[in-house]
Amino acid sequence: MKLRTRKTEDQAAWFDSPEFEAAYHCALPLGSLWAPERTEFRLWAPTAGRVRLRLFREGTGGAPLEELDLEPGKRGLWSAEAEGDLHGVYYDYLVTVEGLCRRTADPYARACGLNGERSMVVDLRRTDPEGWETDRAPARKAETVIYEVHVKDFSWDPACGVKPEWRGRFKALTQEGTSLHGDGAHPTGLDYLKGLGITHVQLMPVFDYGSVDEGGSPEQFNWGYDPVNYNVPEGSYSTDPAKGEVRIRELKEAVQALHRAGLRVVMDVVYNHTYRLDSWLWRTVPWYYVRQWPDGKTSNGSGCGCDLATERSMCGQYILDSVLYWAEEYHMDGFRFDLMGLLDTELMNSIRRALDRRYGPGEKLLLGEPWAADRAAVRPGTLLADKENLSRLDSGIAAFCDSTRDAVKGSLFSPDARGLANGGGLDAEQLRCCLRGWAGEGFPAKAPSQTVSYLSAHDDWTLWDRLALTLDPGAGFDAATPALLRANRFAAAVCFSCQGQLFLLSGEEFGRTKQGVQNTYNAPLALNRLDWERAWRFEELADYYRGLLALRQRLPGLCDKSPKAGERFSPALVPANGCAVLELDNAGNSPWRRLLLAYNAGDGEANFPLPPGNWELLVDGSSSWKWKSPEAAEGHFTLPPVSAAFFGLCCKDYEI
Ligand code: CA
Repeated sequence: MKLRTRKTEDQAAWFDSPEFEAAYHCALPLGSLWAPERTEFRLWAPTAGRVRLRLFREGTGGAPLEELDLEPGKRGLWSAEAEGDLHGVYYDYLVTVEGLCRRTADPYARACGLNGERSMVVDLRRTDPEGWETDRAPARKAETVIYEVHVKDFSWDPACGVKPEWRGRFKALTQEGTSLHGDGAHPTGLDYLKGLGITHVQLMPVFDYGSVDEGGSPEQFNWGYDPVNYNVPEGSYSTDPAKGEVRIRELKEAVQALHRAGLRVVMDVVYNHTYRLDSWLWRTVPWYYVRQWPDGKTSNGSGCGCDLATERSMCGQYILDSVLYWAEEYHMDGFRFDLMGLLDTELMNSIRRALDRRYGPGEKLLLGEPWAADRAAVRPGTLLADKENLSRLDSGIAAFCDSTRDAVKGSLFSPDARGLANGGGLDAEQLRCCLRGWAGEGFPAKAPSQTVSYLSAHDDWTLWDRLALTLDPGAGFDAATPALLRANRFAAAVCFSCQGQLFLLSGEEFGRTKQGVQNTYNAPLALNRLDWERAWRFEELADYYRGLLALRQRLPGLCDKSPKAGERFSPALVPANGCAVLELDNAGNSPWRRLLLAYNAGDGEANFPLPPGNWELLVDGSSSWKWKSPEAAEGHFTLPPVSAAFFGLCCKDYEI
């Protein structure tokens, strides 16, 4: 079958057709396949008329060491072999399509040089840190608590005590024993994470992205949602971006150190678009990987103008292979899909199945944003992995729950909107839905396993800023007023009593501020950096978070992720305006067989009777550690304004 030159619409239909897939789908391993005596180069380029390989000594500059033509084979595959041990040799391709020759790096590359401009042949075993072969993820906990970290902003603040040459880099995640200004008393960095009660660190994009010049100033900052090389780590986080194997080894060291610290690692992946339309994928097979409207305009569901056509088989295969590669080679324990609502349900389910087959059911976490920035030009019949289609997704794929987020702090799209925690009042039925993770009959999620309950992520206002803007706009963002602290504690208590998997932006627990700026993706480090002095100035707030998270692991009623988990809840009682009380079956491995959760979002005290029984106060509005030495509670309980209280009904003979 020969490809003809077609008009855009025809070409898109051709790429979408079953005939194209039948003729050109290629399931072989692609990229440069290193072996001690020779390296095989394989590129999928079904529309190419010629593919030429160029080998280089360096990742940038210099004349080619050697050039050779790849041979066309079946199913659009081009290949060539080069003799010798090519580890550390850089390369690119000249791909000619319809008479136009374009230079491209290898979209399947596993290593690259400075700024990812050229690919590098790599013997991956030479990139393994010491002890890598015995690296294992720590055991899973009853509840998943994900903490979102940006590699650079995590350790940029000199107060964190990380070695200057490691600040802002993967290496910072490996340094133990750091403390605030080195005082030895207030842990920072990795040591701080160990004591927080989180189970997973989610790394914002660590694949190679394009918005930071790897050879430029270390002061540059970007979140990194602009992929260039999907299967290679970002160079600006390494100590030497020009040497292809360094970034690989250093990311592995970071994963290894997090595992040793008892934490699993989730990788933020951006398979919905590329940095520019003119990507390596595009240069290799023009238009194949990109969604287009019938008039030829590119689909803009990502807001970046170059949505990937995940429903096309070789694009889906590319994404699946990439996820499996990070899981296998870098020991990643989970993946967070940026704008998952632009990926198709079939692909997401196939990723879930493939990971479950290799590593065991649910061993690798999958979560994503069940939305997109705009409508997308998908192949007819494609179902997107958005909120509407959650029921079509495997119950082991979780989605960020904007319903709970907005119920607690007000809708993001309306600056004045209030929620439970900032004066918006309490709707008992809505609260009950939040607590159940919006799962079960009549809800988009089939079970709480599909729900990520959260209040803040890198996007939009931090929780603290949102509360400050709505509750006390004159106070600024640095004043820890009692009203703000109280609202923050209440918000955390609500979120951490929801049945979904838990998630928070790093620093939420110490009132992280970005001075009211919503979208700081390329804002200066001064605004984005995690402020380690603040971590200890807001120690009491952080301690409230710690107590809630430690308790959570002992509450099977909330950790239950089954479709029937919601049935553990009683209907909500509404003893007073702005107040709700719910009882919950807590059967499982716990000192308490029932829980009573009480919330007061009003501005006055609320009084309610405790049911008969041997109740203990576990958490109230000022302390989340009461459960460590619980006090008996009976009769009536008074709940101060803007606070929560949790009670447990004792099981006899159970040691905490
Ligand atoms: Ca880069």
